[in-house]
Amino acid sequence: MAQTVKRAYKYRFHPTPEQAEELARTFGCVRLVYNKALEERTRAYTLQGRRVSYVESSAALTAWKRTEELAFLNEVSSVPLQQALRHLQAGFANFFAKRAKYPAFKSRKKSRPGAEYTRSAFRWRDGALTLAKMDAPLDIVWSRPLPEGAEPSTVTVSKDTAGRWFVSLLVEEKVSPLPPVAASVGIDAGLNHLLTLSTGEKIANPRHERRDRRKLAKAQRALSRKATGSANRARAKLKVARVHARITDRRRDFLHKLTTRLVRENQTVVIEDLTVRTMVKNHSLARAISDASWRQMRSMLEYKAAWYGRELVVIDRFFPSSKLCSACGTVRDKTPLNVREWTCACGAAHDRDVNAAANILAAGLAER
Ligand SMILES: [Zn+2]
Repeated sequence: MAQTVKRAYKYRFHPTPEQAEELARTFGCVRLVYNKALEERTRAYTLQGRRVSYVESSAALTAWKRTEELAFLNEVSSVPLQQALRHLQAGFANFFAKRAKYPAFKSRKKSRPGAEYTRSAFRWRDGALTLAKMDAPLDIVWSRPLPEGAEPSTVTVSKDTAGRWFVSLLVEEKVSPLPPVAASVGIDAGLNHLLTLSTGEKIANPRHERRDRRKLAKAQRALSRKATGSANRARAKLKVARVHARITDRRRDFLHKLTTRLVRENQTVVIEDLTVRTMVKNHSLARAISDASWRQMRSMLEYKAAWYGRELVVIDRFFPSSKLCSACGTVRDKTPLNVREWTCACGAAHDRDVNAAANILAAGLAER
C-alpha cells in the first residue's frame, strides 16, 4: 500500500547581493522575534506559572510591529516570523510533554540562521522558486532532480558557518513498500570500522575521510594560533567551517546510500540503542563524528524502514553483545577491548565485532 510522505530536498543556491541582503535581514528578524517571544513566554511561565499560546505570541508580534523601535519587522515577509513562533510553540509543547529541554535562545554566533516560508510566501512556477519580497527566482544548484510534478509546501532557507546558502524544499511524495525479503541483519557500531554486520561484512569509514580529518585538525591548529578578533582568525575560522562542512556532507551522502542498501536488502534491521554510550564523554574527533553519524544513521533507518515496509528493531543498550558467544550462548567474564578475535570453550572462533552483530541480530529477532 503506497503512502504519502513528506520529504525534504536540499540544494545549494547562489543569491544575488540584493537577495543575500534581504535574507540576512529576514534571518535577523526571525531570531529577534523568536528570542523576544521566548523571553515573554519565560516570564509568564516563571513569574505566573502560565503557558502562553501561539495565538498570544502572534498577537504580541502584531503589537511589536506597531512600535517605533520594532517597525523594521514590517520590512521582511511576515511568514518566516510566524513560522518562528510556530517552532517556538512546538518547542514548548515538547518541553511540557517532557520530550525536550526548555527552548533555548538563538544566538547570533551559535545558531544556524534560517527562515521558513510556507505556500503563501513563495512562488513556484516551472521549477523556479521566488521568495516573498524578491522579484527574481533563486539561482538553485539542482544537484538531484525533484520528483516529477512535485509542489513544495514549505521552503526553508539557511546559511551555514562556511558561508554557503541552502534551500530545503518540502514535498509530498508517494512511497510504496518494497517486496518482502527473507534476510535480516544485526549491526554493531564501532570506532575502527564504522559498522560491522552480522553477515561478517565490515563497513569502513568513507574514503577521503582520513585525509579530510587531517585537514580539519590542521585547520583547527592554525585557528588556535590566531589572535582573537583578528581578520586572520576570521579567515581561519571559515577554513575550519569549510572542511567541517565537507566532512559532514560526504558523511550524509555515504549514510544515505548505506541505509538505503540495508533497508532494501533486509526485512529486519537490528541496532543497539547507544544513547548511554554517547553520553560518555570522549572528546576525540573520531568519537564525536562517529556518534553524530550513528544518530543520523539511526534516524535514516527509522524513516526508510517505515517508508519501505521494513522493520527496525532497537535493542537494549545494556545487552552484553560482545561478551556472549553467538554459537553457544556462554557469557565470558571479561573481553578486553583490544582483543579482536577469540575462541569460545565450545570451539567457535569469533571476530569480536561480527560476534557482537550476530548477538544483536538474535536479540532483536527474539524481542519482536
Ligand atoms: Zn561458545
